[in-house]
Amino acid sequence: MQTRILGKTGLQTSLIGFGGFHLIETAQKEVHFLLNTYLDQGGNYIETAADYGAGLSEKKIGHAVSSRRQDFILASKCGRRTAAEAEQSIHQSLKNLKTDHLDILFMHAVQSVVDADKIMAPGCAYEAVLKAQKEGKVKFLGISGHGQPDALIHAIRKHPYDVLLTGFNYFDRFNFPETEEILLKECLDREIGVLGMKALMDGYLYRSPEQGIRYTLSLPISTLVLGINTREYLQKDLDIVNSFTPMSDDEKEGLYLNAMELRTYVCRQCGKCDQIVDLNPSEIFLLEGEYDRQMDDGTVPNPAQYALAGKLKFWFMQKESAIQKYRNRTIKVDPEKDYTSLNNQCPYKIDIDRKLKLVHSKLSEDGYIF
Ligand code: SF4
Repeated sequence: MQTRILGKTGLQTSLIGFGGFHLIETAQKEVHFLLNTYLDQGGNYIETAADYGAGLSEKKIGHAVSSRRQDFILASKCGRRTAAEAEQSIHQSLKNLKTDHLDILFMHAVQSVVDADKIMAPGCAYEAVLKAQKEGKVKFLGISGHGQPDALIHAIRKHPYDVLLTGFNYFDRFNFPETEEILLKECLDREIGVLGMKALMDGYLYRSPEQGIRYTLSLPISTLVLGINTREYLQKDLDIVNSFTPMSDDEKEGLYLNAMELRTYVCRQCGKCDQIVDLNPSEIFLLEGEYDRQMDDGTVPNPAQYALAGKLKFWFMQKESAIQKYRNRTIKVDPEKDYTSLNNQCPYKIDIDRKLKLVHSKLSEDGYIF
């Protein structure tokens, strides 16, 4: 399998990494088969977290592949924030994984600027990381998080991270454009290695696996971490990656235009309808992205889509911050106003008038019901 350099770590990581979350629900015998097949096929990056099944994912990986530890780069994540708790977490991860060192330890799920700074404060997790690095138990420090990228942007600007892990896909790129436009770019400038995850949005893009994986791997990231829990998915992922060619700009534009998940609802942030009236619809739709990832379009979808959207739309818990930002806007949507003249500006055939009013009912506190 093709490899890429992981920033300043100098590690060469394979195009797809094996994400360990779904091993919690996979029988040990199958975990053994999946991980060893992945390594035999040239994969070399295995990632898990102390919190996945309270150590169960780590234990399963330890049982399955610790005997060939030299064949792969191993990463785990620590969600504890005090030095004492983090030290204990690192110790337990090493024990679970049956290894004497982690190549990368991520600070897990950093979702706020306050949390990002707390990790580095005296008596907090970074002290445990430095100690573990001194003792050869951890090589590189990473940070992981998803959703609105403010906290991660703050963290990589201010703190000494070697590696970043966050979500990249062709749907959330329109909800959280700063992830690609600022976070990814600044990581590359700082030679911070970038690992991608959630190319299929925790299953939301389940009908488009090839497009989803190709899109994310076409970004300037090193490795895409995929959750793999069946032989069928493993084979499919290997087939896609082994025939991988980067998407051209035309292919990307075709994807943005035609992707069944984006439909005629998700705003592609082209800005063509902005500056025409006294509010910029693209800014309103960005707030909707933060609120519920533009997943609720006010129609009744098919049952699978309905169930997935129900599970995922508030996954990042950013409803309140979106409402707060809308509250602070001086110009809001006027539900009595007719915005239909904007509709023919949209190359993606979005009914802007309808969408603006739906978003107003989601974000406003004036009691307007769509
Ligand atoms: S024209 Fe359509 S895609 Fe472009 S910003 Fe407006 S609503 Fe979004």
